[in-house]
Amino acid sequence: MTKQWDVIVVGGGNAALCAALTAREAGSTVLMLESSPFEWRGGNSQHTRNLRCMHDGPQDVLIESYPEEEFWQDLLKVTGGLTDEKLARMVIQESSRCRGWMQKHGVRFQPPLSGALHVARTNAFFMGGGKALVNAFYRSAENLGVDILYETPVDDIEFDGARFVAVRSGEKRFEGRACVLACGGFESNREWLREAWGQNERGEWPSDNFLIRGTRFNTGTVLKVMMNAGADIIGDPSQSHCVAIDARAPLYDGGICTRIDCVSLGVVVNRDAVRFYDEGEDFWPKRYAIWGRLVAMQPGQIAYSIIDSKAIGRFMPPVFEGTKAQTIGELADKLGLDRAVMEKTVADYNQACAPGTFDHTILDDCRTEGIEPAKTHWALPLDKAPFYAYAVRPGVTFTYLGLKTDDKASVFFGDERSPNLYAAGEINAGNVLGKGYTAGVGMSIGTVFGRLAGAQAAIAAQKQSVGADHVVA
Ligand SMILES: Cc1cc2nc3c(=O)[nH]c(=O)nc-3n(C[C@H](O)[C@H](O)[C@H](O)COP(=O)(O)OP(=O)(O)OC[C@H]3O[C@@H](n4cnc5c(N)ncnc54)[C@H](O)[C@@H]3O)c2cc1C
Repeated sequence: MTKQWDVIVVGGGNAALCAALTAREAGSTVLMLESSPFEWRGGNSQHTRNLRCMHDGPQDVLIESYPEEEFWQDLLKVTGGLTDEKLARMVIQESSRCRGWMQKHGVRFQPPLSGALHVARTNAFFMGGGKALVNAFYRSAENLGVDILYETPVDDIEFDGARFVAVRSGEKRFEGRACVLACGGFESNREWLREAWGQNERGEWPSDNFLIRGTRFNTGTVLKVMMNAGADIIGDPSQSHCVAIDARAPLYDGGICTRIDCVSLGVVVNRDAVRFYDEGEDFWPKRYAIWGRLVAMQPGQIAYSIIDSKAIGRFMPPVFEGTKAQTIGELADKLGLDRAVMEKTVADYNQACAPGTFDHTILDDCRTEGIEPAKTHWALPLDKAPFYAYAVRPGVTFTYLGLKTDDKASVFFGDERSPNLYAAGEINAGNVLGKGYTAGVGMSIGTVFGRLAGAQAAIAAQKQSVGADHVVA
């Protein structure tokens, strides 16, 4: 096979598809290389539900307004300042302009749902979820003539200084005039997670007990190749979006339905049957992403979210039923926890609950007094049988370590900008998300950087003058 491509896109999720489509629209020939087989294509993007969008007034599926400054302040808060303001503002501004383009490529958005108004203001939901989004993008890419190869994991890259030359997948070699790396983080690489998290003071390797919420194909192979080649890196390897999920979830691809959302309605105990953090610190959508890390710090990396019958109907029920018992002692027995300790933990908590007016829609005045850790909102005694428990484990969504890029999505080697190599999506999300998360921003980053990288790669390809034909297989 002899062929030459203008733009090679490594990856097969949202960022890669946005890059491939944009480069193709600009007239480039495009080859997309995806690790997974056809059935599993779409990376973590296939699990998503929505995109966070700035807007100055009501727009199609978005109500009211979500101005640039508010989006920026939200991002600033969750990252604690670990964000590049210039790049973040670029993502925010562009997030207001991408929906029309997405619709042109077949993505459909869902009208705002009643009861979901707080997110209908900030986030546009995909009709059919992320799977429908990636399928629409793939269909459009095929129609436009993007070449797509599945089961083709890139494991090496050739450079000429800072210039991209070719990628390799085993024996195969693919040469292009420009390249976009959009192949995710390293969350599915168990060895790398071990290295990043290390061994704790109890001699455990915490990451061995992590579950991966998304694809098994984000192994960070390309990120490692880039690190070894001297690319500039951003982010802390131990930082990730990490949620407490049902301990019965599969190791990979459990998706959003594995979340356990009743934490703020009860108490959470660890393997020793004791509480370890304020379950009512803030609204659940603002706190769910810290619980994965909190559970990761506990012995055995496991915890138990415990509620009583008053909580039923106040949260999205998990897929699998919880452990049910008529008394807290019986619940402890069923969970294999120390019965006496658990009874004391719950009794102490119940006694500490001060009278208040319960309202789960506001930061109410139901709080504990005189216990550590306090529960600062929604603290009602656990006193109405039956009681339920859900075992939870850390569920990694995606890692934040990535390639440093600029506002052209260019990759750097020792501060030297590559003339034809770009990065988008999870692999460069660390430029905007040093830590923390705000729902929907992953897809904003991937969509904005994906389109930008595709456009820049198309321009770089036009500027390149490479030889005529290249043997690729
Ligand atoms: C359960 C879940 C729910 C989520 N919900 C949301 C949400 O509602 N909104 C939101 O904004 N974000 C959400 N996210 C985060 C979101 O998925 C990511 O931020 C976003 O999808 C990143 O897109 P991406 O294209 O960079 O990565 P991915 O979609 O993960 O794509 C990476 C692709 O690269 C491929 N790949 C990896 N290595 C190689 C290699 N060596 N060679 C070739 N291909 C390779 C993979 O197979 C994969 O297809 C969610 C994530 C999960 C797991």
